[in-house]
Amino acid sequence: MTPDERRAALEQIASEVRACTACRLAEGRTRAVPGEGDPDTEVVFVGEGPGFNEDREGRPFVGRAGGLLVRLLGSIGWQREDVFITNVVKCRPPDNRDPQPDEIAACAPFLRRQLEALDPSVVVTLGRYSMGTFMPGARIGQVHGTTVLADPATGARDAVAFAMYHPAAALRTPALELESFEDIARVPAVLVQSRDRRGATVEAGGPASETTHGQGSAPAIAPSHVPAPAAPPAKASAPAQPVESPAPVADDASQLTLF
Ligand code: URA
Repeated sequence: MTPDERRAALEQIASEVRACTACRLAEGRTRAVPGEGDPDTEVVFVGEGPGFNEDREGRPFVGRAGGLLVRLLGSIGWQREDVFITNVVKCRPPDNRDPQPDEIAACAPFLRRQLEALDPSVVVTLGRYSMGTFMPGARIGQVHGTTVLADPATGARDAVAFAMYHPAAALRTPALELESFEDIARVPAVLVQSRDRRGATVEAGGPASETTHGQGSAPAIAPSHVPAPAAPPAKASAPAQPVESPAPVADDASQLTLF
């Protein structure tokens, strides 16, 4: 997909989301929240569903949880505009209740199509419901801060999913907030490894696209665990830098790698 085709696909998905009546969440919404961000990014953050502020503004993560997400991104030198941010369900569940399985299923084609268009190297899951899409059966207390190869059926092909706590949960529990800062500090290294892995797959004759990542490019990164500035995750980025202590990435979808 060319960058222009990607933008057109994302805009088409957004207009379908705004008109969607596929589940009961459409009845209570003020505005649907398709998602937003850099269409050329390599990193997609997937939350649970819009809350009060997001429903009013039609934009993801603009309330208190969004404030923490922005601080988390800032701790690794990124801004929200550098990534793409979306949710498992695109309309606000009443009273911010958990999304129900049939609502998640009704909305899943939108997320799948967004991931197909964005073709990210890394999907960062925020909270249990997003994690459940990429790591079925996993427990967030065990897998936060770890990666798994994304199942291509999610729309993220040849990408890794990286689990984090939901920022709203982190706001409620200081220990989780601390762990979230430690977890996000690993994301730049996870990106480099996923990008390199994709490049290796292409060289080995694997699936290629017009905008293949991993052609030797890598941002300047700090060792994992150390919050430090890192180049934004744009598809066309800086010349290759050596990577110290890369974070391991599971090489099959059934294997979770703790690091
Ligand atoms: N919580 C989410 O999961 N998504 C948002 O967009 C806002 C809050």
